[in-house]
Amino acid sequence: MENNQKIAISVVIPAKNEAESLPELCRWIAEVMKKNHFSYEIIVIDDGSTDNSWQVLEEISQENPAVKGIRFSRNYGKSAALHTGFQDVSGEVIITMDADLQDDPEEIPELYKMIKTDGYDLVSGWKQNRQDPLSKTIPTKLFNGVTSLFSGIKLHDFNCGLKAYNAQVVKNIEIYGEMHRYIPVLSKWAGFGRITEKKVKHHPRKYGVTKFGLERFLYGFLDLVSIMFVSKFKKRPMHFFGSLGALSFLTGMGITVYLIIQKIQQLTYKPPLHEIRQITEQPIFYLALVALIMGVQLFLAGFLGEMITMNSTKTNDYVIREKLKL
Ligand code: UDP
Ligand code: MG
Repeated sequence: MENNQKIAISVVIPAKNEAESLPELCRWIAEVMKKNHFSYEIIVIDDGSTDNSWQVLEEISQENPAVKGIRFSRNYGKSAALHTGFQDVSGEVIITMDADLQDDPEEIPELYKMIKTDGYDLVSGWKQNRQDPLSKTIPTKLFNGVTSLFSGIKLHDFNCGLKAYNAQVVKNIEIYGEMHRYIPVLSKWAGFGRITEKKVKHHPRKYGVTKFGLERFLYGFLDLVSIMFVSKFKKRPMHFFGSLGALSFLTGMGITVYLIIQKIQQLTYKPPLHEIRQITEQPIFYLALVALIMGVQLFLAGFLGEMITMNSTKTNDYVIREKLKL
């Protein structure tokens, strides 16, 4: 919903079971905003919490009118939460941060300046000194390297929860699935390519536990494939299908011609019977055939599915149970 008066900063916070952290976090943000004379709003998206996060949020909101909330009917994931929050922001600069107090609100003024004054579209936090277990930091390095390589965006830490955006960016990108990891990539492809990073402080988790398991890496990778794929071929699927189809067709033709020549040779020179091997007796023939058909089919299915998802108006169709002041 549109607010008439201009707000400088909207802070968007996805939260799943973060009841202990929320009061401290909101208080801290309010303090920073007050110190720097920013007009602001805080939008917390309760992503299907099973603790009393929503009640806590209602209490905070009573004390501080700038705190607003959106409550999902169940857990839809961080991407869904961010996307939904972005629809309701009215600030000029949007800051996202995690609810767990790992991101530091003191970074907000500098991030704001980088968007507002330096004119960046997106500033991503870089947790150079990351306060998380090794099991998380090592795969993350790999992830960042691959993403950077594929996307051509030079960032050290794509998945940092603390980011700042020009409002236009968040209104024009569509995040679903686990794509919150690739917001800089989506931003670049939407035409908002002034992207940079800022080293940010990172604290160990104070309350609660991490909400992501090992599956994050598999899903993360599959989403990267989707993004690369759709962004490249969505507008010209024939280039993709055409090339693959041609390749497959030529291979088939090649094999057929080879088999015909072989047959003609056999008919012409009539070798002894035991030397003749029927086409259908050669296992590799079937293997090649099956692999070819399977590959084409799989790619087709995946691509079509992805296109349908992207085109569907239902891509981001979440049930919102209630809203606070929005
Ligand atoms: N989160 C969410 N929905 C989810 C999982 C996580 O809204 O399904 C929120 C979570 O409450 C936190 C942020 O996303 O505010 C980052 O999650 P977490 O701190 O568990 O991730 P990590 O820091 O371990 O990468
Ligand atoms: Mg965290």
